Amino acid sequence: MHIYDAVVIGAGQGGLSASFHLRRLGIDHVLLDANERAGGAWQHRWDSLTMSDVHGVADLPEAPAPERDHAPANRVVASWFDRYEREHDLPVVRPVLVDRVTSDGDLLIVHAGERTWVTRTLVNATGTWTQPFIPNYPGAETFAGEQWHTVDYPGPEHFDGKRVLVVGGGASAVQFLGELAPRTDVLWVTRREPMWRQEFDENAGRDAIGQVLERVRDGRPPASVVSVTGLALRPQEQQAARLGVYDRRRPMFARIEADGVRWADDSFEAVDAIVWATGFRPAIRHLAPLHLRSAHGGVALLAGSSDVQTAVTAAADPRVQFVGYGPSASTIGGNRAGRAAALAVRRRLRDAA
Ligand SMILES: Cc1cc2nc3c(=O)[nH]c(=O)nc-3n(C[C@H](O)[C@H](O)[C@H](O)COP(=O)(O)OP(=O)(O)OC[C@H]3O[C@@H](n4cnc5c(N)ncnc54)[C@H](O)[C@@H]3O)c2cc1C
Repeated sequence: MHIYDAVVIGAGQGGLSASFHLRRLGIDHVLLDANERAGGAWQHRWDSLTMSDVHGVADLPEAPAPERDHAPANRVVASWFDRYEREHDLPVVRPVLVDRVTSDGDLLIVHAGERTWVTRTLVNATGTWTQPFIPNYPGAETFAGEQWHTVDYPGPEHFDGKRVLVVGGGASAVQFLGELAPRTDVLWVTRREPMWRQEFDENAGRDAIGQVLERVRDGRPPASVVSVTGLALRPQEQQAARLGVYDRRRPMFARIEADGVRWADDSFEAVDAIVWATGFRPAIRHLAPLHLRSAHGGVALLAGSSDVQTAVTAAADPRVQFVGYGPSASTIGGNRAGRAAALAVRRRLRDAA
């Protein structure tokens, strides 16, 4: 039986960065990924999301990010990751869907169906894409129209001639409204009043991430970074803004009916499609046997040493590192946390030796 020093789960930006740094430190590891191909969650993003639409993709270690042109991000980032895996000879095994990780004395056993990998430490970099979140509203099952989530958004053309309700107060909702409003009839609902930001600089970014870190250190479920940075309209959204779609935002409806939604004041709005841009949750169900969740429902991470995105170690089990979770749930965060995780693995291996 081979015992790895580390197993990395997930080959998105965070997992690739972790694997790069583990290799550089000479740590024997394997990188398991559920997808058939390279590209992490990016390969599944909708086609109309171009490189110039994304908020920004950070460099990988020793590999500058692709240009911000008008090519679809799903293709560009996937082929960049593919090249990266090959050029750095990363030990990727796919497709491997890890279904649980268990503990056996000092060792961790990573299970995928009948297959197992035995390891001294684990780096979890599974992102959120496989856990789309749709809130519960009464009557949702009676709706006769279409329901979509960000995870399967079919692009704006699909909605031509339809009346669309976009739900959610995050960046994806703002983006969908931006491309739908110029071509079809669209409405926006959010649970809370949207928080628009006026200015955003590096310090404001650091503060925002610091707020997410605070939640994670306390073991609360991580908030999305947008929930603390606020929303902004970009040039791509100006046409929709002129059409007033962002000003006509309404609070959440009370229930869903066959042909539309009804508000608490009993008024009714007919819609043909609902797009749930209501976010994702961390994909960490496979870690349940390790009991890492705190009483507050999230995984508590120990504070990192240098900056806010280096908090990676599970407080409940220092063998397990989280990359792309909470304050590091961005491309730049995944990158930094990947390095921090590799260093934490080395520390752990030395301490345990
Ligand atoms: C719609 C959307 C837009 C975004 N835009 C930006 C942006 O513009 N800029 C930015 O910095 N960040 C953005 N983010 C966040 C960003 O994409 C991620 O935080 C970042 O890419 C880090 O990704 P990751 O390493 O956590 O993994 P991901 O890219 O999510 O990849 C995780 C990998 O793990 C695999 N996996 C999951 N579960 C398992 C399992 N059980 N077993 C094996 N493999 C598994 C998946 O198949 C996948 O390949 C966006 C997120 C979303 C949802």
